[in-house]
Amino acid sequence: MIYADHAATTKMSETAKLAMLSAIEENWYNPSSLYTPGQQASGVLMDARVRISRCLGCLPKEIYFTSGGSEADNQAILSAAAIGKRQGKMHIISTAFEHHAVLHTLKKLEKEGFEITLLDVGESGIVDPNQLEKAIRPDTALVTIMYANNEIGTIQPIGEIGAVCRQNGVLFHTDAVQAAGHLPINVKEDQIDMLSLSAHKFNGPKGIGVLYAKTGVFLTNLIEGGEQERGKRAGTENLPAIVGMAAALEEACALQKERSIYVTKLRDQLIAGLKKISGALLNGDEIRRLPGNVNFCFLDTEAEGLLLLLDNKGICASSGSACTSGFLDPSHVLLAIGRDPQTARGSLRLTLDYENTPEEVETIIEAVTDTVRILRGC
Ligand SMILES: *Cc1c(COP(=O)(O)O)cnc(C)c1O
Repeated sequence: MIYADHAATTKMSETAKLAMLSAIEENWYNPSSLYTPGQQASGVLMDARVRISRCLGCLPKEIYFTSGGSEADNQAILSAAAIGKRQGKMHIISTAFEHHAVLHTLKKLEKEGFEITLLDVGESGIVDPNQLEKAIRPDTALVTIMYANNEIGTIQPIGEIGAVCRQNGVLFHTDAVQAAGHLPINVKEDQIDMLSLSAHKFNGPKGIGVLYAKTGVFLTNLIEGGEQERGKRAGTENLPAIVGMAAALEEACALQKERSIYVTKLRDQLIAGLKKISGALLNGDEIRRLPGNVNFCFLDTEAEGLLLLLDNKGICASSGSACTSGFLDPSHVLLAIGRDPQTARGSLRLTLDYENTPEEVETIIEAVTDTVRILRGC
């Protein structure tokens, strides 16, 4: 079996597993309890917060643990909307190719009277900071633009976007779920006010994530109850998952540079091999993309067929688009970069990581070449 769907989820690293196991066995006490073992668990929680904050370049008290990337996106956007509403600012800027955790939250706000501007991302899949600057209005409450796209892997000019937002006094949130652990991130340098990440995209456990919120950004609670996370996210902390996430992020950040060089080579090998197929169109900028991301449309094919035949050959891949009611809709991301619906239906996303090998990439190239030929009936 060849796993080439690391944008969907990743396998837990040994480091993360061991960290979780020790938390399960030794620190299973409630961090809010006053007796010594409880206070020890509280210390472990604090330690995880400190380690994660170091990876992001922020303060420990700016880290809020959530159930994952989706919750962090929801909380960030709803918080900014609440702040905006109090100031009479009811306009939000985003892009058409965000994750549904962002787009569906914006839809909800639209129904509540917010006006949403979705920036064009062009054929390259990269936001233009000048276009953003033109879209900002006196009543803009929030700019939310993802760090790197989960389908086509394109990396946004986050530092420039952050600078435009800061200069115009607008809050800036970025969904960095695909970037965290894979790209170097520094929220202070990039002038990011809020950032979402999710552990299972960087070899940590599922169901745990982080919302970073800069000191002074007033968060809205999604879950009411106890005083955990400084009163902003109630519920007894999932300490094993938090500790596993901290270990995974630290490891990913320490090895980021060397892994990125290795995975980029695999990516470019795969892109070069698949480009040789006739009617193969690479989606998104060829260079400014995540180290492991490859995404093509193959004319006169359909994603269901591609994925099924590849699965038969033991290759786990994705079309990038969400499966609704049993069939694949063309991906909103591919439509956003200007693919027509028919072309977008023939999409294939292959996402690699440090565990993949050049031999696997060769096998994938042969398998995809074969599959496309079979589907075209020639
Ligand atoms: C996976 C993903 C999410 C959702 O994260 P969960 O932890 O699965 O809720 C959000 N945004 C992006 C870009 C993602 O890739």
